[in-house]
Amino acid sequence: MLYWTMGARHTAARTTGGTPPVANVVVVGGGFAGIAVGRGLANSEVRVTIVDQHNFHTFLPLLYQVATAGLDPADVAYPIRTIFGGAPNIGFRHGRVREVNHAANTVVLDDATELNYDHLVIATGATAAFFGIPGASLYAMPLYSLADARRLRNKLLLALEDADARAEQESVALTFVVVGGGPTGVETAGALAELISIALRRDGLRLDRRRVRVVLVDLADRLLTAFPPSASGYAARELRARGVEVQLARSVVEVEERAIRFADGERLETAAVIWAAGVTASGTLAQGLSVAAGPSGRARVGLQLRCEGRDNVWAVGDAAAIPSNSSAFCPQLAPVAIQSGRHCAEQILHAVRGEPLTPFSYHNKGIMATIGRRAAVAKLPQGGVIRGTLGWLAWLGLHLFYLVGFRNRLRVLINWTWRYFDWPSGPRLIVADAETAD
Ligand SMILES: Cc1cc2nc3c(=O)[nH]c(=O)nc-3n(C[C@H](O)[C@H](O)[C@H](O)COP(=O)(O)OP(=O)(O)OC[C@H]3O[C@@H](n4cnc5c(N)ncnc54)[C@H](O)[C@@H]3O)c2cc1C
Repeated sequence: MLYWTMGARHTAARTTGGTPPVANVVVVGGGFAGIAVGRGLANSEVRVTIVDQHNFHTFLPLLYQVATAGLDPADVAYPIRTIFGGAPNIGFRHGRVREVNHAANTVVLDDATELNYDHLVIATGATAAFFGIPGASLYAMPLYSLADARRLRNKLLLALEDADARAEQESVALTFVVVGGGPTGVETAGALAELISIALRRDGLRLDRRRVRVVLVDLADRLLTAFPPSASGYAARELRARGVEVQLARSVVEVEERAIRFADGERLETAAVIWAAGVTASGTLAQGLSVAAGPSGRARVGLQLRCEGRDNVWAVGDAAAIPSNSSAFCPQLAPVAIQSGRHCAEQILHAVRGEPLTPFSYHNKGIMATIGRRAAVAKLPQGGVIRGTLGWLAWLGLHLFYLVGFRNRLRVLINWTWRYFDWPSGPRLIVADAETAD
């Protein structure tokens, strides 16, 4: 039986046809993976409760466009209840799960509510990895939630306004540093450079473009290391053409409130440090699960996606270390999250029906990164690379396809089309309450 203790409300999810559910499934996390599990179990004989600390699903790949004032927060988020409004066996509980009690088969929420489960799915994703670099978690700005994106947008726009306000008295210099030359860092740096150009050219900010720097740094000796070297060279050239300084083989040793320090001793005054250096599941629920641990706090699962040693606990998406044919573990990417979530739902149905489980196999769909207008790279599953306008169009199409909700797709399509023909438009708004949003 699924129930809330501590007098909390019960969300009555029913199974199709009003028959009693054969099992209760609790899914922690409403990201790509959790939503895929829910979709796979919709209208089946099990009762599902999706628990998330936010009442919405966030499309993380477009967060950088919210942060750089290209899209509105509502364009990339969708209420989880609305996604499953038509499925009578799916319920939603807003809250943060703080622990799992395997002996009692319950999860415990922050408000001490306990939810019973027959099957538990951990789909809690990952979080920014700061690698213990002093000051990084305190002063650098990660990009992992809608609140992060809003905070960053405020910070960037406030820095520009502040510099404009001082411009009459002094010659103002502004430096924005993006740490991490993977897709998120490349996309953020490119979009930030475009935001600055627009703000200077069209919003009347009185700043000297040559004194407003966007610096992209990475420890590696090339950008986009998951792509072939030709794509890395292309990305670096395109970024430089947009005014981004690409600094490779540079190691950050400390982040201060208004500065960043490198291993070679340089200390750079900064208006903002944006952290796109990698992700980890350390510190998330996956790490505190008391199951076998994989790399960086991920829950180690077998090919059936069950946590080792626990027959009724499953892990999917970024939270899981999923064995892979081509490398040790599947990468932490949206297609892995969606495919593993879908597969997990099938396995839970097999389990409750007494059928044999089947192994998960990831179908590589390739990887992509956009640098800016009409510039993107895509590595195809067979290893080929497409880039330029074709890559950019492929990137646009794919992101529209995977966005959750027709309304969001339409809004983003209209926004992108509008901006294509009227590039300076965009929600360059400083929203005062962002600091308190979580
Ligand atoms: C900025 C950025 C850009 C990216 N770009 C791309 C890209 O272009 N292409 C690509 O393939 N991948 C991209 N990724 C990676 C991709 O977004 C992830 O692989 C994917 O989101 C993983 O899905 P998930 O469901 O496992 O986790 P998430 O999408 O992170 O969802 C986890 C959910 O769990 C909830 N949660 C966490 N802990 C708790 C708790 N204790 N209690 C309740 N709820 C909890 C969170 O609120 C969240 O809703 C990007 C990631 C980021 C951060």
